[in-house]
Amino acid sequence: MSIGIKGKWIIAYDGKEHRLLRDGVLVTEGKRIKYVGKKYSGKVDRWIDASRHVVSPGFICTHTHASSAPKDKSFIDDTGAKSLYMSSLGENLTALGRSINPEDYHVFAKYSMAELLRSGCTTMVEIGMVGTLGAETTVKYIGEMMMRAVEGVGISDGRWRRSQAANFQTVWGEPEDGLKRLDKAEEFVKKYDGELDGRLIAALYPSTVDQVSEGLQRAVREKADELKVPVSIHAAQWVVEFQNMIRMYKMTPVEFLKHTGLLGPDLIIGHGWATAGHPLLAYPEVGGSDLQILAESGATVSHDPLVFLKRGNKMHSHTKYLNAGVNVSIGCDTSPQDMLNEMRMASYVTKLADWSCFSGTAAEVYTSATIGGAKGIGRDDLGRLAEGCLADIAVIDMQTINNVPCRDPVKNLVNCATRADVMYVIVNGEVVVEEGKLLTIDEATLVEDVQRTTEAVWDRIKDNHYQNLESDEVSPQSFKPWEE
Ligand SMILES: [Zn+2]
Repeated sequence: MSIGIKGKWIIAYDGKEHRLLRDGVLVTEGKRIKYVGKKYSGKVDRWIDASRHVVSPGFICTHTHASSAPKDKSFIDDTGAKSLYMSSLGENLTALGRSINPEDYHVFAKYSMAELLRSGCTTMVEIGMVGTLGAETTVKYIGEMMMRAVEGVGISDGRWRRSQAANFQTVWGEPEDGLKRLDKAEEFVKKYDGELDGRLIAALYPSTVDQVSEGLQRAVREKADELKVPVSIHAAQWVVEFQNMIRMYKMTPVEFLKHTGLLGPDLIIGHGWATAGHPLLAYPEVGGSDLQILAESGATVSHDPLVFLKRGNKMHSHTKYLNAGVNVSIGCDTSPQDMLNEMRMASYVTKLADWSCFSGTAAEVYTSATIGGAKGIGRDDLGRLAEGCLADIAVIDMQTINNVPCRDPVKNLVNCATRADVMYVIVNGEVVVEEGKLLTIDEATLVEDVQRTTEAVWDRIKDNHYQNLESDEVSPQSFKPWEE
């Protein structure tokens, strides 16, 4: 199958960086891009008219929890735990997570992929589906939804324990249990890497910097070097973790990752904002700069702005990290899982963090959401439109109520576009979204299923909250109910 797209604008890659190609043509052949340029005289099986659109590489979301993130929507907004520095981790998210029944993960996983695809996202670094659905079902659903996904088995040998008084600490388990998890992770890599015609990219997922011991982090590093697959870990993601790391190891999370050797060019750190010098941490750069360590290592920081914005916090800052030489990508983490929205948040929050209109530019966040993410997963054939690259493409209408007038489609993508403007999404050379409609699932049924499923989750919160609070007590409705 070959597809030709005639675009008003094409964000084309010149081998070094994105370029704006006016009135261009892109041609796919099978799962790869065959041609990007001004004129194409050959035949194709199908032409897509993108004469009012921008043709963009599909976005790469480098941090998502597909089988559980939808539970956050309509709930975690305007909430947080004061004793945990406004985080929802360890309290509200724990109560919500425990209220999910095993069958709920199925509908959430499909919905998350639908949300992402509809926002022009073609690749997700997904954490959690294998643990909640099992390997086989995970791969089956990714296959059916037609996404490209980085997947792996969660690895840890510690867990968090929270007392009633909100003392939050790591409790270590048996080292052998962690190594057994690593064996399972290796099995997954060997069985599934490259499946789904290359759409399945296997990875190693040590869970969090404070739930994976020093020994296990070293073992993961060895295994990653042997298997040559991407690695992702949660680190520098909240104040409590940062303080616990200082108390346990006298090192910042970033320093500890360097110490264990896990830090390297194959590592994606979600979320990586809790670095020495961040204003919320009140911890100066006494032992050197975390950003410098990150830059020298070649690791990627997944900037996932929305979830932290909701807690009143932000990375300091996307632009500062880039200027320090750190590779920065973008992920959604929470709901809504919408890469257009996430790029917008990344841009605005960076301007605020730096008090500067020159920070968080559209070019910076767009590059992070494409080339930055591809670099994170070690791929130079994704996140860009060039001959020989994989045909993962989003075609977005620029002549809509959101996007007119359009002079600079990258600025409008970051500042104005919504999912409703995403007309075509192509993954591995196959059309997955056509005229704004997802072809791989019935959206109307999916929407009903998600609403019903999540209402039941909210009803179960009382049984799973550490103080047995009702959902309306944990997350009050915005307005009181009408009374007659
Ligand atoms: Zn996460």
